[in-house]
Amino acid sequence: MINHFADSELRDHYKKLAAESVAPRAAQCTKRGLLDKNSWQELSDAGIWRLAVPSEWGGQGGTWWDFAAAFEGVAGGGRDLGFCLSMLAQAGLIRSLLIYGTEEQKAYWLPRLLGGEVGATALTETTGGSDVTRIKAAAVQDGDHYILSGHKDHITNGPVADVALVLGRVPAVGAHDITLFMVDLHAEGVRRGPAEDMMGNRTSPTGPIALDGVRVDAKNIVGGIGSGIDAVYNTISLDRLLYGILAAAYLDPLLDEVLEYAKQRHAFKVPIADHQYVQGRITDTKFAIEATRWVSYGALDALMHGSPQASLMCSVAKYHAGETLKLGAETGLRVYGHLGYMEGPCAQALRDALGTVIAGGTAEMQRKNVFNQMRRLSDEVAA
Ligand SMILES: Cc1cc2nc3c(=O)[nH]c(=O)nc-3n(C[C@H](O)[C@H](O)[C@H](O)COP(=O)(O)OP(=O)(O)OC[C@H]3O[C@@H](n4cnc5c(N)ncnc54)[C@H](O)[C@@H]3O)c2cc1C
Repeated sequence: MINHFADSELRDHYKKLAAESVAPRAAQCTKRGLLDKNSWQELSDAGIWRLAVPSEWGGQGGTWWDFAAAFEGVAGGGRDLGFCLSMLAQAGLIRSLLIYGTEEQKAYWLPRLLGGEVGATALTETTGGSDVTRIKAAAVQDGDHYILSGHKDHITNGPVADVALVLGRVPAVGAHDITLFMVDLHAEGVRRGPAEDMMGNRTSPTGPIALDGVRVDAKNIVGGIGSGIDAVYNTISLDRLLYGILAAAYLDPLLDEVLEYAKQRHAFKVPIADHQYVQGRITDTKFAIEATRWVSYGALDALMHGSPQASLMCSVAKYHAGETLKLGAETGLRVYGHLGYMEGPCAQALRDALGTVIAGGTAEMQRKNVFNQMRRLSDEVAA
C-alpha cells in the first residue's frame, strides 16, 4: 500500500521555510548563476538532509517518504526548479552512501553533507552521459591510495560542491573496473567549474570537475572496485522518482496561477477560462501532474519495499517528470499569450523545465530502461 505521507505538517513546514528563503532570492541567484547557499544552509540547519538518515548516522531516523514530503514543500514554496535539482543531487548522494558506504565512510562523509556541505555525483564526461561505460577517468594504485585523473562535465553542483561521488576506472583490475570514489573537492589536484552557460536552471550551477592526479584513500572507494555500474544504476533510482515528485509539487502553484489568470482575462466577452480549448490545456496539465505525482509515489513505495518493479517504476516517474514539466510550463506560456512569451516567470519555467528531459537520464534512456525491465520481468515469469 502506498504510504502517502499523511505528514502534510512536514511539507507545510518546509513550504513556509522555502517561501521565505528560496523564493525571494531566486531571481537574484538566477541572474548571477549562483546556488543559493544561504537557503541551502537554512534548510540544512532545519534538518532536511537528516530526515531519511538513521539516527546512528546523525539523522532523524525517518524514511525517504519524510524527505519526499519536505522536498515537495521546498518545490512548492521555493518555486525554483534549479535549486531543487541541486537538492536532488544531494539526496541521491546521501542515499548512495547509506546503501554502499562502509561504516567509516558514513561516519566521515554523512555529517559533512547533513550539515550543509554541497555534494555532487559525477558520472558524465565528454564521451557522453547516456552510456557511462565510455568514461575515461581512471585511477592507479599507489600503496593504500589511488591516484585519480579525468575530466567530468555537466555535473550538477560541480562548480560549488565540496564533495563528489566520482565514477572512474581502475584499469589494473581488468574488464570490470568501473568504480565509485568519494572525493574531497578541496583536495590538491581538483579544479571545479566554471558554471556552464545553460539556457535554464542557472540556480543549479552545473559544470566540470577536473581531477589531475588526485590522491584518494583506498578506504574512500564506495561499494568495492568494479561495482560502480551496478551501484550507480541502483542508487540513481531515487533521483529518478524525485524528479516526478518535484515536477508535480513545482507545477501545482503554477497551474493555480494559470487558472486565476484565465478567470480574469477576457476574450470574446467572457473569461478565457470559459473557452473549452483553454480548459482543455489546463485539464491536460492537471492530468499529467496527478499521473506524475502518483506514479512517483508508487515508485517510491516500490523502491522502499525492494519490489522487482522498482527500477521500471522509477524510470516511468522520471519520464513523466520531464514531459509533465515541459507541458506545464508550455501551458503557462500559451494561456498567458504574449505575456507568457515575454521574458519573465513563464519563459523561465519553460527554460528550466526543458533541462529535465536531459538531466538524470534522457527520456529515450528511460524508455530503454522501461523496455529492458519489462523484458526481464517477462523472461522471469516465463522461466
Ligand atoms: C541540468 C543538467 C544537470 C546534469 N547533472 C548531471 C550530474 O549531476 N551528474 C552527471 O554525471 N551528469 C549530469 N548531467 C548530464 C546528463 O546526465 C547527460 O547530459 C545525459 O545523461 C545525456 O548525456 P549526453 O548529454 O552526453 O547525451 P548523449 O548520451 O550523447 O545522447 C544524445 C542523444 O542520443 C540519445 N541516445 C543515446 N543513447 C541512446 C539509446 N541507447 N537509445 C536511444 N537514444 C539514445 C539520447 O537520449 C540523446 O537524445 C546533467 C545534465 C543536465 C542537462
